[in-house]
Amino acid sequence: MFDRASVVTPGGVNSPVRAFRAVGGTPRFMVSGTGPYLTDADGREYVDLVCSWGPMILGHSHPEVIAAVQEAVSRGTSFGTPGEGEVALAEEIVARIEPVEQVRLVSSGTEATMSAIRLARGFTGRAKVVKFAGCYHGHVDALLAAAGSGLATFGLPDTPGVTGATAGDTVVLPYNDLDAVRAAFAAHPGEIACVITEASPGNMGVVPPAAGFNAGLKELCAADGALYISDEVMTGFRTSKAGWYGVDGVRPDLMTFGKVMGGGFPAAAFGGRADVMAHLAPAGPVYQAGTLSGNPVATAAGLAQLRLLDDAAYAKIDAVSAELRSLVGDAFTKEGVAHTVSSASNMFSVFFTDQPVRNYDDAKKQEAFRFTAFFHSMLEQGVYLPPSAFESWFVSTAHDERAIERIAAALPAAARAASEATA
Ligand code: PLP
Repeated sequence: MFDRASVVTPGGVNSPVRAFRAVGGTPRFMVSGTGPYLTDADGREYVDLVCSWGPMILGHSHPEVIAAVQEAVSRGTSFGTPGEGEVALAEEIVARIEPVEQVRLVSSGTEATMSAIRLARGFTGRAKVVKFAGCYHGHVDALLAAAGSGLATFGLPDTPGVTGATAGDTVVLPYNDLDAVRAAFAAHPGEIACVITEASPGNMGVVPPAAGFNAGLKELCAADGALYISDEVMTGFRTSKAGWYGVDGVRPDLMTFGKVMGGGFPAAAFGGRADVMAHLAPAGPVYQAGTLSGNPVATAAGLAQLRLLDDAAYAKIDAVSAELRSLVGDAFTKEGVAHTVSSASNMFSVFFTDQPVRNYDDAKKQEAFRFTAFFHSMLEQGVYLPPSAFESWFVSTAHDERAIERIAAALPAAARAASEATA
């Protein structure tokens, strides 16, 4: 299948990290998923610790989500008009996340961050955007800039196809460094439209914000008249009922969502202060649109999933995450592998270093080659991890004792493989 795919699709995949380039080998083609398990095209079953990169927080094929989808599909798949499902989903988001007074639905996290930045620029009349190295906000041109470290470094395009002009208004700073943010505002007073940050980063591995970092960002933005955008595409509706906002309580001007809120379908959103959202077309002048935005099947899936995510569901996910973190840490300790199990609420990942990881430069210093050996041993034993040492692991309410036991049984050999790996 991968050979077939590679003929008709660049690299054989429709999103690069799926291709196993970071760990080598042939990606598994999955044909079905039930609860915490995935089954590949060769009929092998895996305990899934990727959960579609976050969305499948109730596990695969949750009967109530599937029923909601089937009911919606039976009424038609897209109307290109307003519909009640999208209103209900927007109401659910607004009810859960207090800083979100109004929300606009889109189809991907990338679209959400792209639109939020456009709105921030339109609202403030300013051009510059501050982002942090190691934070991923989707493949938005202006956000695919990651310059080296240093204060107020101007972004250089990170990929061919993004022009210097596009990236030139992006200021890339080291994560968890408020002094760097202070210096950027001092260097560009009245020019910065927004600071965008992952609410708690999961795209350089899991690197939580230091105490006071998000609050400091908010304060510096407010002092300069810039907007503070919290990207909760990954953390939203996962790290608590109200996402990372429910954990640290720092009130963003705008927020972005995706993944969990789509229930496995393409649905995402951005929202926040009503006075800012009022600048969005057709209420205001900042244009933003989408043929499939608020799609009735996607909104039905998302709404069904969110309604099942009550306090008990989060308690379960937190408990599964804590148990796995401890099993993983013990396995590496037993084999003498230098490691840090880094977590933010129920999101976690392993860094192969015993030094503190506070930003992307720290994360890159880990012995990532150990992850490759670990990953393949786990895969062989039927545990599907993210195929990169720089990604969060995700668990669901469906990860039961049997699934955890299978992971526990695979860990000793995989930790040994990590310990024996050479660069
Ligand atoms: N923002 C964050 C924090 C993400 O983790 C991602 C995707 O992983 C995105 C934005 C982009 O979302 P999408 O892949 O739906 O475009």
